[in-house]
Amino acid sequence: MVVGVGSAGPITHNVASVSPLNIRAWVDFQLQHKLIEVSGLPVFGDGDAKALALAEGWLGAAKGCNNFMAMVVSTGVGAGIVLNGELLSGATGNAGHVGHVVVEPNGRRCSCGGQGCLEAEASGLAIEAITGRSPTEPTYEIMQRTGRLVGQAAASICNFLDLELVVVGGGVALGFGATFFASAQEKMDELCRLDFSRKARIIPVALGSEGGLIGAAAVGWRGLNRQIDGRDAPVDLVP
Ligand SMILES: [Zn+2]
Repeated sequence: MVVGVGSAGPITHNVASVSPLNIRAWVDFQLQHKLIEVSGLPVFGDGDAKALALAEGWLGAAKGCNNFMAMVVSTGVGAGIVLNGELLSGATGNAGHVGHVVVEPNGRRCSCGGQGCLEAEASGLAIEAITGRSPTEPTYEIMQRTGRLVGQAAASICNFLDLELVVVGGGVALGFGATFFASAQEKMDELCRLDFSRKARIIPVALGSEGGLIGAAAVGWRGLNRQIDGRDAPVDLVP
């Protein structure tokens, strides 16, 4: 048995240390150590959106797809990117922070220190700050605007990395539903004009609220496989 974890970022390898931007009490929080202490089991962890990408590729809306991005549009905005069948990690394990792609050059200040990031314009916290209303009570305009901004960032990533599919979960995206996804797809159609990116689609995740748990299981399984094989390289999507 092992423990699998999907945590909001930024994180370090195997969630040795996590500093989720929206949990201010956790700065350099030693999550792996804490969980080993409590469970006595090996602990493997990764970013929550990367875990979701593993889950959606394994059992969800991106099953059978080798090149896709799984996004979460919720309190914050994150993503995991699968390229050529492998989950991208990056130098410190934080690849896929699409929430900090700039979508409004003169936009709001972001918690990362930047300005006009997708997360500063389209996350649940941002929507509440901009409209003065809870994201659970959106206007039609704010659902459309959020969809367009997410579509704009997703289109850039699809053009950049030759992706064919973007699956989106999280309370904001799923709560805004068909209006959000229609606006996002419209923006993608407008901006994905290259021969290879023209057919890129943006659709809801298939695993709903279970995606996070299934993702944590996939991260645990992947960690166990790596331990058994003595491998440290990325492994196949199917754990
Ligand atoms: Zn930012």
